[in-house]
Order: sequence, then C-alpha cells, then structure tokens
Amino acid sequence: MSAAEPVPSPATREHQLASLLREAERALAHDAQVAARLAREGSALARERDDRKSRARARYLEGRAAEILLDETAALEAYREALAAFEADRNDAGRADALRGIGNVYDTLGDAPQALSHHLRALAVAEALGDARSQATTMRTIGVVHSRAGRPEIGLQWYRSSLELAGDDPAERSRTLNNIGINLKNLGRLDESLDTLTTAHEGFRSCAHAVGQAASLNNIGKTLERMGRLADAEVRLSEALRLSRSTGYVEGTVNASLTLGRLCDRTGRDAEALAFLDAALATARQHGLRTAEAEAHDALAALHERTGAAGRALEHLRASHAIERALLSEASDRQLKSLSIRYQLSAAQREAELLRAKQQELATANARLGALNLELAAADAQKSRLLVELERETREDSLTGLANRRRLDERLTEEFERATRYGRPLTVAIADLDHFKDVNDRYTHVAGDEVLKAVGRVLAASVRHTDLVARYGGEEFVLLLVETGADAAQAACEKVRLALERHDWASLRHGLAITVSVGWCADTGLADGQSMLAAADAALYRAKAAGRNRVMAA
Ligand code: GH3
Ligand code: MG
Ligand code: MG
Repeated sequence: MSAAEPVPSPATREHQLASLLREAERALAHDAQVAARLAREGSALARERDDRKSRARARYLEGRAAEILLDETAALEAYREALAAFEADRNDAGRADALRGIGNVYDTLGDAPQALSHHLRALAVAEALGDARSQATTMRTIGVVHSRAGRPEIGLQWYRSSLELAGDDPAERSRTLNNIGINLKNLGRLDESLDTLTTAHEGFRSCAHAVGQAASLNNIGKTLERMGRLADAEVRLSEALRLSRSTGYVEGTVNASLTLGRLCDRTGRDAEALAFLDAALATARQHGLRTAEAEAHDALAALHERTGAAGRALEHLRASHAIERALLSEASDRQLKSLSIRYQLSAAQREAELLRAKQQELATANARLGALNLELAAADAQKSRLLVELERETREDSLTGLANRRRLDERLTEEFERATRYGRPLTVAIADLDHFKDVNDRYTHVAGDEVLKAVGRVLAASVRHTDLVARYGGEEFVLLLVETGADAAQAACEKVRLALERHDWASLRHGLAITVSVGWCADTGLADGQSMLAAADAALYRAKAAGRNRVMAA
C-alpha cells in the first residue's frame, strides 16, 4: 500500500453504509434491480463490519427488492434473516415490517394461510408497539387476503377494525372504505355498498387523490350497474375512465372500459360496446393484466353471440378459457412453489436449529467440563500443596529446612537396625549451641533465628550427604553419622564444631560469635537408637560442664 492511499475511518464507513441503505430504499420506488444491488452491497458491508443492526435493515431492503422482482425465494430468505436479526436486536418496528413482508410474499404465492399467519404476527407486534397506523394498514391487508380467498364477510370485519384505528388520514380511510364497498357489493348489499363507496370517493377527492378517485368511481359504477341504474353507472364509469387515462392508471382504464362495454352491450349499443371492449382487451394484453384480458374476451364473446357472430364468439370464448387455464396452472404452480419454498426453508431452518442446539449442547458440556477441570486442577493443586506442606510439616523443620524430630526418630531406628544387623558402625552426636540465650538477648530473637538457619547450613555442609542432620529442639541438633565408628567420630564431630566456630558470624551481626558443644555415642551395642542418643546427650552435658565449645564422647 502506498503511503498516499487513504484508509477509510470507521466513521466514514458507517456513513457510507447508512447512505447506501438510504439509496437502496429510495431506489425501491423506481428501480428494484438497483435497489436489490445496493441492498446486497449494504448487507455485505454490514456483515464485514459485524454491524447486526445495519445488516437487518439491509436484508429487509433486499427482501423488498426481491419481492418486487418476483423472486419469492430470495425475498423470503432475506425477510426471514432480517426478522431474526430484528428480533435479536429487539427492534419491534423492524419485526413488524419483516413479518408484513413475509406475509406479502405468501400472498403473492397464493398461500393464504401462511400470508395470514405472518400478517397476524405483524399485527400483534404493531399492537404491542401501540402503533395504530401500522395496525390499521396490517388489518386492511389481512382483510384483502380473506376477501381474495373468497371470504368477504371476514374481510369486512377486518376492514371495519382497520377503519376504527385508521385515524383521520383521508387517503387511508378511503382506501379501507373502498375495500368495504367492494365486499358489500359482492355480498349483494348494494345500497350499503353505494353509500360506502360514495364516502370513499369524497375522501379521495378531499385530498386530491386522483387514482383513488378513479378506483372508487369504477366501483360505484359497478355497484350502480348491479342495481340496474345503468345511466348513473355510465356517468360514473365515464368519469373513472377519463381520470384513469389522465393519470396513467392502467388498471382503472381497463376496468372502466370493460364495465362500460358490458353496459353498452346491455343497452344494445353494439358499436360502442365493441369499441370499449376491444380497447379494454388491447390495454389489458399490452400490460399483462391477464384476468382483465380473460374478462374482456368473455364480454366480447357474449356481445358477438348476441349479435349473431357465432364464430367470433367462439374464438373469444376459447381465448378466455386458454387464459383461465393458464392462470389456474400458474396459481397451482405458485401454490407448489410456496409449498416447496416453505419446505426448503423449514428444512434449512430445521437443520440450522439442530446444529444450533447441538452446538449449544456441546458448548454447555464443554463449559461444564472446563469448569470441572478447573476445579479439579485447583483441587489437585491444593491437594499437592497440602501434601507437600504436610510432608514438610511431618518430616522437616520449618525454620532450618533440616529433618525434624519425627524424621530423626525414623532414621535413627532404621540406621540402628541396619548397623546392628550388618555390623556396620554408627555414631549419634548431639550439638547444643553455647550460651544461645545470650545471642537472643543481645541480638534479638530474629537474629537468633537467622543464626539457627545458618547453623543448619553449616552442619549440613560439614557432614556427608548420606548422614542426617536434624533439628532436635530449640538450638539442639542431632547428627546421624552413618558408617562412622568410634575411631572416626571424634574427628567428625570436631570438624563440625570447628566449622561452626570458624563461620563468619560477624557478617551476620557485628560482634557475633557462635560456638557449639557436642556429645557423641558410637556404641551400637546399646538397646536401641534412642539409648545411643541419650548417651550422646549425657556426653554433651559433660562437654558443657567442661567449659563448652568442645566435643566429648559418651
Ligand atoms: P548453654 O546451652 O550453653 O548452657 O546455654 P544456652 O543459653 O544455650 O542454654 P539452653 O541451651 O538451655 O537454652 C536454649 C535457648 O535457646 C533458649 C532460647 O532462648 C533459645 N532458643 C531455643 N529455640 C529457639 C528458636 O527457635 N529461636 C531462637 N531465636 N532461639 C531459640
Ligand atoms: Mg539447649
Ligand atoms: Mg545451648
């Protein structure tokens, strides 16, 4: 990387991501391909940065784009991932959006049960959030799903509930009223339908909503036609056609032409009827409005049949049936597609859930094992420490690190047995520091302790490593000199005495001098080791009495 190359700062990248998502959302209104690409880029960037919040939003926008592009599989995947991320993030507004998106995809796939279940969940979230507007919109969507599935009564109930929450936004209220009017007409409740549609139309007009006005006028025309008020119907439908054309509202144009054509047919105006129906057919075909195209063929077949053009009538009938068959198979394809998408998703979800569960189990087991191991290791360490301490406590003198009395007793027994059994020499010597009380008194107990440690070191250094040096009591030390008989004992003990006397005590405390008196016994003919020790102690007593700093044999 060259030194001049700029590295984007985290803040810059965050800004980049936010604007990318804003652009993606804007693009949804005019170019779904662009929106999809931008949202995908946003998703990748968010994942790269481990930004769960932005990733949820990006995936949701990917879902919206895929939905428009009729890529239901991609839409569902994106929405579901967004939903999971919103849930993890406790973003309820996001959850409602994602659920509504999933419901819409299922609605497109003709899977009313799935559509409903997701819209109902979206509704519950909106309710919990207290978002009345979102509730009203969702309720209207649920009403549409029911109405489309051939349940206009239930549809009506949802529309009415939606209306109660709609607030006073005239366009929102009018949309719902328009839907109510359609259902009332389909239920044959024509007076109520007309009243409701008229209110919807007034609402759309009050907010200059041209498309809404055209839609409601179309519906008014149809209801009036059903009522037999053909002249009134024609006025409204002509107005609907004019408004639809001027606003480029294709569906409205086709609808108005169709109804006007049928109306002219009913009143025997054949040429006008033909013109309207042909126009409806052409526009429907041009814009891929298949249902309207089939309806136009049906109406033309009826017209031609009535006017005696049987051949033309048959042609239109056949064309209408072909479209209906195609629509039916498309519908069943969509149903199948929905089923297979659901299966794929649920299989993938099941797998993911199983994997998650397994990983969770493993992680828990590992954590438990880890904790146990730690406890075990700690317990082990403590045990070892205790053992070591215990070992030391039982066999070692804590101040000097020499063998303690217990160890001495053990070794003394062993060595005495060994010596007597094999006829080997053994000397037991006991050394007592001279006037040690005075050392404590003069130099403090701390200095006394330091002297005792040093004595331990000097003693250990002045005997063989196979010998044993033990601290017998306060300032009394016992030496077990193995393979040492009466001939060598005096010299060995003299060596110890001299080593202590010559040690550089002054470097420990100014003016300090240490001497020791030693008594020894090499008589393995005595009863036991303890008797040898007692004899050595008696000799020590005599060494003290004889003036100290000397070695005496038992
Ligand atoms: P001597 O043996 O020459 O007759 O005189 P002493 O002053 O050494 O007399 P004795 O052996 O009877 O006294 C033992 C003294 O050693 C008593 C106590 O002050 C000291 N002592 C015993 N154990 C310790 C210890 O662990 N640390 C220290 N600092 N002093 C101890
Ligand atoms: Mg003593
Ligand atoms: Mg002493």
